[in-house]
Amino acid sequence: MASRHDTLTVTVLGYWGTYPGPGEATTGFLVEHGDTKILLDCGSGVLAQLLQLCDVQDLSAVVVTHHHHDHVADLGVLTYAVLLSRLMKTRTEKLPAYMPQPGSDMKQSLLAEPLIDLHVVDEHSTVAIGDVLVRFVCTQHPVYCLAVRMEVGGRVFVFSADSAWDPQSSVAVRQGLPDLARGADLFVCEASMYKGQESDAKGAGHMTAPQAGLLGREAAVRRLALTHYPHYGEHRDLKMQAEATYRGPVELLSTRQVLTV
Ligand SMILES: [Zn+2]
Ligand SMILES: [Zn+2]
Repeated sequence: MASRHDTLTVTVLGYWGTYPGPGEATTGFLVEHGDTKILLDCGSGVLAQLLQLCDVQDLSAVVVTHHHHDHVADLGVLTYAVLLSRLMKTRTEKLPAYMPQPGSDMKQSLLAEPLIDLHVVDEHSTVAIGDVLVRFVCTQHPVYCLAVRMEVGGRVFVFSADSAWDPQSSVAVRQGLPDLARGADLFVCEASMYKGQESDAKGAGHMTAPQAGLLGREAAVRRLALTHYPHYGEHRDLKMQAEATYRGPVELLSTRQVLTV
């Protein structure tokens, strides 16, 4: 049994794929362990959600999975918020930002702010943020994308980021994500499409809900929650379709929901 000291909490800032629903956000999570506060992805609307919970000066680090708009749309304005906190002297420490190699415009804007400490990471990187150990694997997506495993005191949270995952693929192609997610106490997995859309999902570098369930089962995760929802259909169908293949309860996320790992 983990003590409270070893607990990670994951607060949902945004769970939409592509663009945010009204008043909500695309991908973003606030991962906390004690005083350590990690912003994981910074999609459209994420900064407004984050500021309801904490100030930018309270952040320990930012981790970005990939450079698609629905994961980085608010990264530029986050940089402006850091700039203001520097001018107001509410933040004097650098803010480490871990991400795959950004494009030249994004890189220029990040490097322009002296308090942003940019670290380019890849699937070989291991990062310690406070006591939280962070590892990555490269996913199957049209741009370079990293799934993320965060671990502290034996408690494990894994986020798939964006990825295709076809159980019919060769073991070599499909093993990265289940290896990363193996035995996770919480696995938040993207489910961008519904049953029957497997071909579209694979082409777009995404998963259907049944594939997310199968992946959770193959990785023997203890708790499975879906994210990155489409703007059509009924999201409860995603849950039911994933439950059929996971063979256990699967959760849908809501804004500012707190998941204890
Ligand atoms: Zn996405
Ligand atoms: Zn993406």
